[in-house]
Amino acid sequence: MAAGKRKRDSPTLPAEKLPSKTRSHHTKVKTEVGSADDSKTETTKRTKNELSDNKRLSTQKHTAWSQYTSQSPFPSFPHPTPEECRIAHAHLKELHQEAVEAEFADENTPETIPHVLDAMIIAILSQATAWSNAKRAMNSLKKEYGSIFAYDKIVAGGQAKLAETIRCGGMHNRKSMIIMTVLEQVLERYGKYDLDDMFTLDDEEVMKELLSYKYMGTKSASVVMGWCLKRNPFTVDTHVYRLAGLWGWRPKDATREKTQSHLEIMIPPNLKFDLHFLMIQHGRTCPACRGGSKGGKCTLKGGRVIKSDQDVDEQEEAEEE
Ligand SMILES: [Zn+2]
Repeated sequence: MAAGKRKRDSPTLPAEKLPSKTRSHHTKVKTEVGSADDSKTETTKRTKNELSDNKRLSTQKHTAWSQYTSQSPFPSFPHPTPEECRIAHAHLKELHQEAVEAEFADENTPETIPHVLDAMIIAILSQATAWSNAKRAMNSLKKEYGSIFAYDKIVAGGQAKLAETIRCGGMHNRKSMIIMTVLEQVLERYGKYDLDDMFTLDDEEVMKELLSYKYMGTKSASVVMGWCLKRNPFTVDTHVYRLAGLWGWRPKDATREKTQSHLEIMIPPNLKFDLHFLMIQHGRTCPACRGGSKGGKCTLKGGRVIKSDQDVDEQEEAEEE
């Protein structure tokens, strides 16, 4: 079954949330802009061999992803049940709704980014770091180039300048290299910094396209699908992965990729979006869940709200068995 068909029926995809195709494109530039200074771009030029390697790699990435679009990699693992998801959702909402809303009120909230390429760049900036670091990098880009998404200026300025600009966000060498590579690939394929044709593709095709970019993995691609394309996948970052382990929502030895495929199937579609952000907030702030069992007591485990210390003790004893 194509994932696209399933998602189309999702009640959490109101049509009015999809950005209109008719809006103006602020990132459109002519091809010449990107190649105006060959000396600056040659560090990221790819040879034909590298390009065909990349094609093979993107096919591998896509095959690994599409294997589990309709069935969990752990079909006999029964958690989380829809009820566990609902309980966790209700309880996390009580704890963290305010904090999550405050984050959404931020002007750089990814959920409001209307352009696919912009969402990709922010996904790259937020790889393997806290959102506050990604935001620092974004603010620095704004200051240096006038906009986070001034791709012509960023490319013309070269990778060294970009790296220096986003140093404050962490992993600046790697991230600047990835951004330059992605921008180069986009320009090579479409002659402009614009990927919004992806709005017309179904989920499967979108994933295939996103993964075809070098250094775009399933996590970043899922993030872009959720933020910008509103396709609502359940993205598993380090917090969600850890909580899923603590709560018994995945087999203990499940990889992050397989956990994502599993939760994608198990979590009711109408809860995915909220639960993702609530779980991240919880993973960041709950001392018990941050430090494992040594960090104190969590009021929520396995989608079960624990009301008293006695309950907590019973739960811990049960887990030790
Ligand atoms: Zn907790």
